[in-house]
Amino acid sequence: MRESNSKQSPSLPDESLWLAPYAMHAADSVGREHAEPPHPYRTAFQRDRDRIVHSSAYRRLAHKTQVFTGDRGDYHRTRLTHTLEVASIARTVGRVLRLNEDLIEALALMHDIGHPPFGHAGEDVLDQCANDVGGFNHNDHAVRIVTLLENRYPDFPGLNLSREVLSGQRSRVKGQASQDGHPLLEVQVVDAADSIAYDTHDADDALVLGLLEWGELHEIPLWRDATDRVNRRYATLDQHQRRRAVIHQLIEIMVSDLITHSSQALASADVDSPLAAMNQIRPLIGVSTELQQQVAELESFLFKRVYRHPTILAERALAAEALKEMFARYREFPESLPTRWRQRLETEGTSRTVCDYLAAMTDRYALDEYRRYEAVTSDA
Ligand code: MG
Repeated sequence: MRESNSKQSPSLPDESLWLAPYAMHAADSVGREHAEPPHPYRTAFQRDRDRIVHSSAYRRLAHKTQVFTGDRGDYHRTRLTHTLEVASIARTVGRVLRLNEDLIEALALMHDIGHPPFGHAGEDVLDQCANDVGGFNHNDHAVRIVTLLENRYPDFPGLNLSREVLSGQRSRVKGQASQDGHPLLEVQVVDAADSIAYDTHDADDALVLGLLEWGELHEIPLWRDATDRVNRRYATLDQHQRRRAVIHQLIEIMVSDLITHSSQALASADVDSPLAAMNQIRPLIGVSTELQQQVAELESFLFKRVYRHPTILAERALAAEALKEMFARYREFPESLPTRWRQRLETEGTSRTVCDYLAAMTDRYALDEYRRYEAVTSDA
């Protein structure tokens, strides 16, 4: 059912007053799987955003690992604060480009909702363990959460989100070619903002946690550029102020380049609808080739020096072991699953149900659960 923000509901904002013609207007949404009457003053995408914010999977992001686990203090990003940084950057870009900020916010807030505990280590383990039922991927799982696993509304399973939000999330699954060309511009903005957020905050966190030395980052031209700009502006900064200023400068460089380059691409493509933007040969949202190269250098540096740091790998291995053992145990004794999950065994099968249950856990819940399990088995 089409949710209209047109004349019959005067209290709904008229997005066409500020959105560009290539933006996805809520009034043009193809609707939801389960038809619902329009809301008197919230557009379809505002409702989607609100449903995501009120979901339990969203709240659990507060206690899920982004890169660094909770044992390392409380400075570094969690999955939730990463998500909020992505939403903040993406909304800034979306507003300048006159795209649909509500849709952008909904997409940004749900983009990592499918992550299991322990970040990518957790994802790799679940993927192997659920091999017999097609494996596990956090982007696919996000769709599963919002279409099936969240249980909040009496009228339908999941959150019954607009199809544009669902297809935006589906387009994040790597290697999944879309028959409809590129994703909506709003989806492209969230993807770009995701990279900007993690490239900058992972460097920041790694410095604070002592996994990287300041001098090492100086090998990276993009980092040097940001540092030079900060040094030109501030003569005397202590080490902490300088680090923060360089991170802010990095974000500024990347966001400005993204906006400038995307604005030029939009102007030269002269697209007059979301569909026309999706059917372009190249995606219209992105940074310049020059910045792309510099970002690739920063990313490969972070990959080698941070994501592959021996202490991070050791933490990952421990977390992976815990999750693997729990998977094996629940698969063998599915009757020990909590009632809500046990009820799903018949329709979803054992492997998928165990996978869903473990994926929903926060890091600390998973560790508590694992310790309980260890205590029981060592007493036996
Ligand atoms: Mg992300």
